[in-house]
Amino acid sequence: MAEDYDEDIYQQALFLYRKPFLQLIQDAAVVHKDNWSQADIQRSALLSIKTGSCPEDCSYCPQSARYETNIKKHPLMEVKDILAKAKVAKENGAQRFCMGAAWRKPPRGEQFDRVLEAIRKVKSLGLESCVTLGLLNEEQTVKLKEAGLDYYNHNVDTSKDYYSKVITTRKFKDRVETLRNVRKNNINICCGGILGMGESAEDRMKLIAFLATMQPQPESVPINFLVKFDGTPLENVENLDILDFVRTIAVARILLPKARIRLSAGRMDMSREAQILCLTAGANSIFSGEVLLTSPLPGYTFDNKLIDDMTKPLDYVKENKNVI
Ligand code: SF4
Repeated sequence: MAEDYDEDIYQQALFLYRKPFLQLIQDAAVVHKDNWSQADIQRSALLSIKTGSCPEDCSYCPQSARYETNIKKHPLMEVKDILAKAKVAKENGAQRFCMGAAWRKPPRGEQFDRVLEAIRKVKSLGLESCVTLGLLNEEQTVKLKEAGLDYYNHNVDTSKDYYSKVITTRKFKDRVETLRNVRKNNINICCGGILGMGESAEDRMKLIAFLATMQPQPESVPINFLVKFDGTPLENVENLDILDFVRTIAVARILLPKARIRLSAGRMDMSREAQILCLTAGANSIFSGEVLLTSPLPGYTFDNKLIDDMTKPLDYVKENKNVI
């Protein structure tokens, strides 16, 4: 896996990003249609299984122990409680259940074993499993694979150039090293980023170019719209124009044609129509539920209606219009 992006892919990304908006959306729609069924919008649920007190200093994150935020911290959940949440997610249409723990790297011993057990139990429900636990070594990656893990989430967040403006406690190359371990052990990769952290358009395209340069490319690409938490260094950063967000999704769709592009955090700050625009531009997955780690989501009822509105015939949509 390369340390950074291929220059030709980056130039292509920039060229696409700068196209007239409608032309870019139409180009993305062609790639989307060639690679995916348009009725196929996947739902994932993400549970924070251990919240807060993280030693890292990610400037966007309310779970960092370095910032005064008002999140509710809790230690690693018991497997039975995780499983109860996974069942609710499945009943509400989730196909994948993701579990996130606020660690720099997973601790050894009982806690890591508990995560392995949670993976086995989630799989036994017929759900795909995903975890995000921070930096992994080879041994941990092997154990996750043996437990049946389907996906490992490890976002690179932004471009390599902008990385140190957002996080200083680890380097972009540390993230790449874990991604290599994950790929080597045949676990699918979920890797994306966050937009609206004060980065330039060039940074956004370097992020997409990095993901598109990976061989093979990541199977899942979550694209987050920054949620500004009080107490974090990015709480007052300038708002990103939603059309720049949509443009980035469209470029990702074109350059990562086989990836699930997931509309992730930040949906509460978007209108329903803006979310539909993202799905029209090539996103084909959402994080569904009431909460995404520590940031609120619109909720299962809203999401089920949103997906019906996007994928079902008009008669069906009209008959079910009172769902929300
Ligand atoms: S994003 Fe993850 S690694 Fe960074 S501070 Fe938050 S929990 Fe820790």
